[in-house]
Amino acid sequence: VALCLTRSGAVKRVGVIGGGQLAWMMADAAKKLGIELVIQTPSQTDPAVAIATQTILGAIDDADSTADLAAICDVITFENEFVDLESLSKLEKQGVCFRPSLETLKPLLDKYDQRCYLRDRQLPTPNFFALEDGSLLQMTDPIVLKTRRHGYDGQGTFILKTAEELEAILKTLNGQPLLVEEFVPFERELAVMAARSLTGEIVVYPVVETQQENQVCHRVIVPADLPTATLLEVKTIARTLLESLQVVGIFGIELFLTREGKVLINEVAPRTHNSGHYTIDACVTSQFEQQIRAVCGLPLGSPALTCDGAVMINLLGYEHSESDYLDKRHQLSEIPGA
Ligand code: ADP
Repeated sequence: VALCLTRSGAVKRVGVIGGGQLAWMMADAAKKLGIELVIQTPSQTDPAVAIATQTILGAIDDADSTADLAAICDVITFENEFVDLESLSKLEKQGVCFRPSLETLKPLLDKYDQRCYLRDRQLPTPNFFALEDGSLLQMTDPIVLKTRRHGYDGQGTFILKTAEELEAILKTLNGQPLLVEEFVPFERELAVMAARSLTGEIVVYPVVETQQENQVCHRVIVPADLPTATLLEVKTIARTLLESLQVVGIFGIELFLTREGKVLINEVAPRTHNSGHYTIDACVTSQFEQQIRAVCGLPLGSPALTCDGAVMINLLGYEHSESDYLDKRHQLSEIPGA
């Protein structure tokens, strides 16, 4: 530990770009590790403002706000990827420390670039192409149309069966850069969290099954019930990717499992992820603690489960939606260990 602290210069204050729920959930781990969190977020009412030592009010892609953040932090990390790399790179050149680095993030922020990166490294990914001028296509099979940036929770992802559907959607997207990929008739969706430390140590969490409804994650089941060879394949993909990207931090990787047992990467999230929330209750080290450990230059913690298995249910937006899911929460709380 002494060696790591010397090498990292004992990080005490972590700046986080983004003040949503993922930043908010870093609070317990920060307290445990004696780290202060400073948050850059657009609104005083954003979740993580409540747990921050200090807040810099500013848009996620506003590099001037990030400069203010950097002035009072030892290292900067991300809770979402909607940043402007070009303007951040000026700060990096001035010595601001981003973890993961901007070089690591560069191929990931645009979904098309990300697919190219995976394909070029022979990592399995669905077939895809960039839709340059909107003039598609003889559609014979269903396709998946995605906005190349700023998608989350299925926003910006459209599963389309006919050329008419495509035409209608294109009209609403106002010339945004788009990615088209093959529709994968997957048998199941999987995900895995993995972290890499400053010294290159990698830990991979259990592979989970995720269940989406309308492209939004509703359930995560841990561990996924899979043949050993598939588990190994997913874990190898995670290691290869984090090594290749020289990640310092924690990443979420979403995958498709086809009926033939083939694994394809759907998406790489360069941060904590909703498929990793189960780690708070069910693992030795939560994904949030792992993120802080990695970006502070500390040794990583064990990703092992502390129980036989776990299920995460996503009660999406319950603070703001009309229902507060009281019935469901009652039912869930009756499950032993919930
Ligand atoms: P987001 O970035 O918003 O999470 P994703 O690209 O991960 O969007 O897509 C959300 C969901 O849409 C996936 O979990 C999956 O259920 C479905 N999906 C995305 N791409 C494909 C595809 N190529 N084939 C089949 N389903 C897909």
